[in-house]
Amino acid sequence: TELSQIRNFSIVAHIDHGKSTLADRLIQSTGTVQDREMKEQLLDSMDIERERGITIKAQTVRIDYRAADGQDYVLNLIDTPGHVDFAYEVSRSMKAVEGSLLVVDASQGVEAQTLANVYQAIEADHEIVPVLNKIDLPAAEPERVKEQIEDVIGIDASDAVEISAKTGLGIGDVLEAIVTRLPAPKGNADAPLKAMLVDSWYDAYLGVVVLVRVMDGVLKKSDRIRMMQTGAVYPVDRVGVFKPGMLPVDRLGPGELGFLTASIKQVRDTRVGDTITHEKKGAETPLPGFQPAQPVVFCGLFPVDSAEFEDLRDAIEKLALNDASFSYEMETSAALGFGFRCGFLGLLHLEVIRDRLEREYGIDLITTAPSVIYHVYKTDGTMIEMHNPADMPEAVHVDRIEEPRIKATILVPDDYLGDVLKLCQDRRGIQLDLTYAGSRAMVVYDLPLNEVVFDFYDRLKSVTKGYASFDYQMIGYAQDQLVKMQILVNDEPVDALSVMVHRARAEARGRVMCAKLKELIPQHMFKIPIQAAIGGRIIARETISALRKDVTAKCYGGDVTRKKKLLEKQKAGKKKMRQFGRVEIPQSAFINALKMD
Ligand code: GDP
Ligand code: MG
Repeated sequence: TELSQIRNFSIVAHIDHGKSTLADRLIQSTGTVQDREMKEQLLDSMDIERERGITIKAQTVRIDYRAADGQDYVLNLIDTPGHVDFAYEVSRSMKAVEGSLLVVDASQGVEAQTLANVYQAIEADHEIVPVLNKIDLPAAEPERVKEQIEDVIGIDASDAVEISAKTGLGIGDVLEAIVTRLPAPKGNADAPLKAMLVDSWYDAYLGVVVLVRVMDGVLKKSDRIRMMQTGAVYPVDRVGVFKPGMLPVDRLGPGELGFLTASIKQVRDTRVGDTITHEKKGAETPLPGFQPAQPVVFCGLFPVDSAEFEDLRDAIEKLALNDASFSYEMETSAALGFGFRCGFLGLLHLEVIRDRLEREYGIDLITTAPSVIYHVYKTDGTMIEMHNPADMPEAVHVDRIEEPRIKATILVPDDYLGDVLKLCQDRRGIQLDLTYAGSRAMVVYDLPLNEVVFDFYDRLKSVTKGYASFDYQMIGYAQDQLVKMQILVNDEPVDALSVMVHRARAEARGRVMCAKLKELIPQHMFKIPIQAAIGGRIIARETISALRKDVTAKCYGGDVTRKKKLLEKQKAGKKKMRQFGRVEIPQSAFINALKMD
């Protein structure tokens, strides 16, 4: 295809503003998919995505379109992940296209993810076409939202396309805007091959499928290609395009988006952002800006039933083959037995993986408190990157600790602003900005990531009745008064319950934890102290009183059958107990103690 006949674009939007519906409509109205094959939300394939309405992996589709000028165009839509956890993947897929449709729900207006995503598009030098969706709704206020786009984002919205992705109104205008307002890609077919590795995934029939954007040169079947980051060489089995099913083609030239397969064993062997060239007469320099995706949030995953450890290992290995950004290593815990310490791109990524392990593989999991990566500077001048409180060096060897901080952008209706400010303040936030867009406030805070990974998002939703939207990006490390808090049960530290906390918040956190455990651990024949400690210092304490002898006699008098039942129940319960010194702690206590509320 001639470069001048190609348009590559992405759709950026806040969740639920209609990105998937619009994509479906574009595919359908151009006859890319026959009506009878059309199922809703064609681009969102994973179950979890469909349920939560989040697109996780980038997907792409090639649309053939005859424009009003009578010419035939190839439109490549790349559906980028919409969540901040996948920011690096978003930024790579943005680099693979030249333009974006900025979809804004005309009844809602600009939201936090609208901003985060459109900034990514601006960063990638995109031409941007604003699209106001849902104008069929009585609450739609296109004029107001146009003004908002201009005020808040600072781009011209006077030519915004007004549509209803639901009814199909205005879809033709969107297609024309893509052709007339977005630029054609540039590239040189005679130059050495440079193709960007945009994404990769495992396909049961084809093995690893690699999504590529050819920048220069031509990629053909049977070519021998080299990945410039890893140096690995592969013979290409197939090249093709997505319509949206996989359709083999002979070649992919400059400006084109498509896939290749090359008997690559696992997704881990591919790096998003890598440059693909030919083994011989290849490009000298890779495309700029490669960086591997780094996990930022860590937690322990343990099977509730320790007999399921091997199943968990298998499941984690399988998931990891398909997700290079997810890391894991084995971990043992006195409390929880064998499990894995896992690293994720963010909280959503953590949730998605945990959900898949539980649902697709049927494994019940205990998740320990999520942790960020701390930079622990030791007195001997060295620094360790620590994400497990168990690895914390003794206090005498620690000079200072730095923690990651984020820039959080929150959009919220006026009425809830006070609650949001209080929440951010409570979480050690530093206000950077506060502006208004109509009756909505936009607040920007510098916050410790550590305070956000626990339950910030849930708290934000609850104090704003779901009306706030939130997005964040990492900004760097800063020193603070951070300490490791341990929980001691009957004077023994329970490793799985150790957490890193800010000094000023430790007492409160410790008290809550001790009070919870007091409720969760059954009485024994002796008194059990439960303590929270920093170093050797106790900062909170509760005591479980001793049980009086002969519980059955006391509770149930002489009723033999009830007595029997109670004993049986106790016996069954024993299996799910973990022994700590002389204390038996039910498995469920860990799960519940680690829950934040
Ligand atoms: P995404 O999260 O941006 O992909 O949003 P979806 O495409 O999944 O749409 C979110 C919800 O808005 C769905 O319930 C859609 O049916 C609905 N929706 C999308 N476009 C329109 C529209 O133009 N009008 C109305 N009334 N609803 C729409
Ligand atoms: Mg969607």
